[in-house]
Amino acid sequence: MPVAFITHPACRLHQMGPGHPEQPARIDIIEDLLHKRQLHDFLKHHEAPRASVEQLARVHPRSHIEYIASLSPAEGLARIDPDTLMCPDTLEAALRAAGANVLATDLVMSGEVRRAFCNVRPPGHHAERSQAMGFCFFNNVAVGAAHALEAHGLSRVAVLDFDVHLGNGTEDIFKGDRRVLICSTFQYPLYPGTNPGSVPGHIVNCPLPPGAGSEAFRKAVSEQWLPALEAFAPQLLYISAGFDAHAADDLAELRLATADYAWVTDLASGIADRFAQGRIVSTLEGGYDLPALAASAVAHIDRLMTG
Ligand SMILES: [Zn+2]
Repeated sequence: MPVAFITHPACRLHQMGPGHPEQPARIDIIEDLLHKRQLHDFLKHHEAPRASVEQLARVHPRSHIEYIASLSPAEGLARIDPDTLMCPDTLEAALRAAGANVLATDLVMSGEVRRAFCNVRPPGHHAERSQAMGFCFFNNVAVGAAHALEAHGLSRVAVLDFDVHLGNGTEDIFKGDRRVLICSTFQYPLYPGTNPGSVPGHIVNCPLPPGAGSEAFRKAVSEQWLPALEAFAPQLLYISAGFDAHAADDLAELRLATADYAWVTDLASGIADRFAQGRIVSTLEGGYDLPALAASAVAHIDRLMTG
């Protein structure tokens, strides 16, 4: 069964100024490598719809949605924090990035595909209920997961987050909602600077020290994520697929290898096949070294296709 690949041209237009690491080339280099590896034609391509206000409002107050819309500049850049800026195309890109997760959820729930990858930006996992930050405006994965819970009536969804940064936004949004299991590995200390600990059966946070490397990452996933996932038996898996823990990435020092992303994807696929009819919705988060990002994301997508 094919894997859905969802993106939108607006995701290439969002930019936050010269030299910003969260740049349009990130999604292009992933597509370029899919072409080179001759995987592109085997994906089922979709254009991301806009998320509706109702879909966003499941995880963000309407005041936040209106605030982001009100900041959208007619020209130049509008600054939310020193690293998070809006250009005239940002709002459209952010709506499409969140909408990609809604479409991906509908596609896997309909059985049309088992897995989907959303090649979108801006990323989402730092976006809290009422706070855009860390390159993120709306929490794309949370919008998808809430759609699975509210529109498709699921009662157990898991979010796996292997971005090098803590997905503080996703944890803020689902804190206390026992229908969601969040499993995260992240470098600590590092942005956003917090290490909130775990809540058994609900939030599995695995902080790793700078320089931790592949072995420590795989140990945390095997010993902490895996038993939590088996006990929870998710009906659908979301992946916050950030690739900035790669050794080549300058934004952090976790020192993972490309092969670790294939490995963790196989682990997720195994859980999805056992409990969730194979259903995985994966979405691009971080990853700033362009060659490492492309290699890692394509290794991930390749395993979604074959796993
Ligand atoms: Zn990150």
